[in-house]
Amino acid sequence: MQAPRSALESLRFDNRFVDALPADPLTVNAVRQVGNACYSRVTPRVAPDPRLVAYAREVAELVGLRPGECTSNEFLQVFAGNRILPGMDPHATCYGGHQFGNWAGQLGDGRAINLGEAVNGRGEHWTLQLKGAGLTPYSRTADGLAVLRSSVREFLCSEAMHHLGVPTTRALSLALTGDEVMRDILYDGHPAPEPGAVVCRVAPSFTRFGHFQMLAARGETELLRRFTDFTIESDFPDVAQRPPGPERYVDLFREVCRLTVEMVVQWMRVGFVHGVMNTDNMSILGLTIDYGPYGWLEDYDPDWTPNTTDAATRRYRFGHQPAVAQWNLLQLANAIYPIVGQAEPLEEALRDFATHYQAGHQAMMARKLGLTAFEPSVDQPLCTRLEEILRLTETDMTIFFRCLADVDIDGSDEAAMERIADAWYQPTQVAGDKRAQILAWLHSYIARARRDNPDRDARRSAMNAVNPKYVLRNYLAQLAIDKADAGDFSMVNELLQVLRRPYEEQPGQDDLAAKRPEWARHRPGCSMLSCSS
Ligand code: AMP
Ligand code: MG
Repeated sequence: MQAPRSALESLRFDNRFVDALPADPLTVNAVRQVGNACYSRVTPRVAPDPRLVAYAREVAELVGLRPGECTSNEFLQVFAGNRILPGMDPHATCYGGHQFGNWAGQLGDGRAINLGEAVNGRGEHWTLQLKGAGLTPYSRTADGLAVLRSSVREFLCSEAMHHLGVPTTRALSLALTGDEVMRDILYDGHPAPEPGAVVCRVAPSFTRFGHFQMLAARGETELLRRFTDFTIESDFPDVAQRPPGPERYVDLFREVCRLTVEMVVQWMRVGFVHGVMNTDNMSILGLTIDYGPYGWLEDYDPDWTPNTTDAATRRYRFGHQPAVAQWNLLQLANAIYPIVGQAEPLEEALRDFATHYQAGHQAMMARKLGLTAFEPSVDQPLCTRLEEILRLTETDMTIFFRCLADVDIDGSDEAAMERIADAWYQPTQVAGDKRAQILAWLHSYIARARRDNPDRDARRSAMNAVNPKYVLRNYLAQLAIDKADAGDFSMVNELLQVLRRPYEEQPGQDDLAAKRPEWARHRPGCSMLSCSS
């Protein structure tokens, strides 16, 4: 008699990507250039002594698992890379990309292994991907591994972003592998061992701009067409309704522009800085992907980049993200041009990006300010002035907007000033002319808010629904990492729990909404991140 299948063995897989697209004929796991193929089959590396650090029950449900199943040994073995379930077909995909503005050639999944596409009860496909499970043909000179530090950051931020309402890849699990992995965090010639870890990431697909770019760069136009048709059929059901042909590729491009606008607007809303917006890190679905040296704005500074590698030119600074997104879309347009055949409709879509971004950003700012609509003639100057106000003195962006919701718009400017004081890092600096400028802004804001919406409670709750109280502050992630490195996973799980409800007041958790402490100002991992992960 056959043994009853476990819950994990009952997961259903339908691996559209591997079934529809050509595989690399070589199966040896050696670094190489892979032409005329979209992926290479690989086997995850065995984790010698896996240990579960955390899992996200919501993601378990998405892929067709019950949360109770996530604490089993079988779950750990599967998501640390030690067991392949029936129906899985592990592979690493081939893509290229522009890194910091320069074409880098073939990159590919150097430490990501897609296990397969799980189909849940609603018929949705969710690709399960291990990050840090060992070498692939795309590992170049690196080791295919990930450390606990960067894996905690990826795991927590994916879930935090989702609960904030920002489009993102998800994270099912975070496990230690039992390996020690050497990393030179500061890139100063002092590598040290760190605990190895694997995150299981989950997304409808992990297709990047760089997948299209790689095929175009190799002149593999037929495969590019096939790959694009596959992407439309599997990831863009609405576009797939249109008749096949070049116009459908333009429709796809317009849709990618729209999704990318939406993603970046949401980043700007919550103060997220991606840090490495290379084209290989841009999802075709407009999902935030590849959580590396990202950071959260603490004091509002549009010129801030968390990435030490980016310090010289600040290409990926907060305020430059919309422009970089558009530049990346231009690279995608160039990549699909051979199958579109005309430049004009792609150029038009790129021009529309700017208009759509502006409209999306304005609507988002109106919501952050508690206004029912954005009136450009008044609200544009109000927002421009606000940017200046926020930069007059170090002002915590997250706390500022939460405080602003509490401002009594029937009260005095002085009372409003007191309400927002908690957002300042150096309150004593707020004197004289600075103080007068902030008061003047509050005066015009209050007048505008009063005219806009007579319902005070509605205004406050609308603002608190778009201005989070809890975000994954850089120093909080670092504290959770420090503890996890010492074998204590409690803070990882506590942050996961609190970040599930970022817009709600959570009694007893105010510490996790506090301003960055002074010690974190210059500590690596808190104020600046290297790409070492
Ligand atoms: P990233 O900067 O994380 O987007 O990575 C850029 C490229 O380097 C991608 O092809 C990654 O798969 C690859 N990569 C990054 N870290 C590693 C690693 N430890 N081992 C193998 N490949 C890596
Ligand atoms: Mg990447």
